[in-house]
Amino acid sequence: MLHLPLARAQLDRKAELRTDPLALQQLESNGIFYKFYDGNFFTADGGLAKFAFDQKPTGEHETFFLGVDDSGVGHFLWSQKDAPSGDVQLASLRQIAGAISATEIGIAVQGQGLALWHGSHPRCARCGRETKSFDGGYLRRCDEGHQHHPRTDPAVIVLVKDRQDRILLGHQGSWDEGRFSTFAGFVEPGESFEAAVIREVQEEAGVGVTELVYLGSQPWPFPASVMIAFEAITDDPERARADGSEITEIGWWSRDSIKADIDSGRLRLPPFVSVARAMINRWYGPSHREDLRSKDSWR
Ligand SMILES: [Zn+2]
Repeated sequence: MLHLPLARAQLDRKAELRTDPLALQQLESNGIFYKFYDGNFFTADGGLAKFAFDQKPTGEHETFFLGVDDSGVGHFLWSQKDAPSGDVQLASLRQIAGAISATEIGIAVQGQGLALWHGSHPRCARCGRETKSFDGGYLRRCDEGHQHHPRTDPAVIVLVKDRQDRILLGHQGSWDEGRFSTFAGFVEPGESFEAAVIREVQEEAGVGVTELVYLGSQPWPFPASVMIAFEAITDDPERARADGSEITEIGWWSRDSIKADIDSGRLRLPPFVSVARAMINRWYGPSHREDLRSKDSWR
């Protein structure tokens, strides 16, 4: 399995407490709170800023229950609507993911995923009435009683290899020059993960793949995905071509050529927190990995 940087959550989510208002009140009274505003966390000393219950935001905000730590302390997110005043430090998950602890990573991906879902679902999709948050943030409900639960959209991501153990990477037209990554796409209704992998590679790179191997998954709350990672083999490497719309350039790399192209600046790899980077590092191999790890990446 892959070691994935955003898949390290450590809190016990205690889902049974979400519908127990008294238990939640007790946890809140001596809980730890994190603040989130407009896609950013409040930060302090390079990590997430921690607040006590009596430091709650003065303006409009929603409280989400994230879970309980080993000491039995509850952790919560305050998602606030009003811009913070005073001297506060804000940072995005992408900016801080490489520097914060596993516990904080778990809190951040869960909290951001919840906050972004709530922010984009102020009204009922069935009747259009306003909705409110219930169950510690795991339910929104309108006055008609229509219920809506936080969504996570599955997306597959695949490292395509040939029989010579080269890897195929693609470049999107909207990206900076030299930026390449693995192939990825959303799972469509009625589709298995495996079928989605085969379809995405066929669409974007024009080749069929077989011998799919599941490598792991990690949350990707930008805004609401979970990435499901596979490796796959193609027997037709010479037939690979960019689709010309989403993908404008593709290339095959061996371990030697990827190192040479990174060193020369021709190739820039995905960010360290991404599944794509973890798959490329794993393929490159433990004996070489430090070489790739030390290289700069795009965000
Ligand atoms: Zn409704």
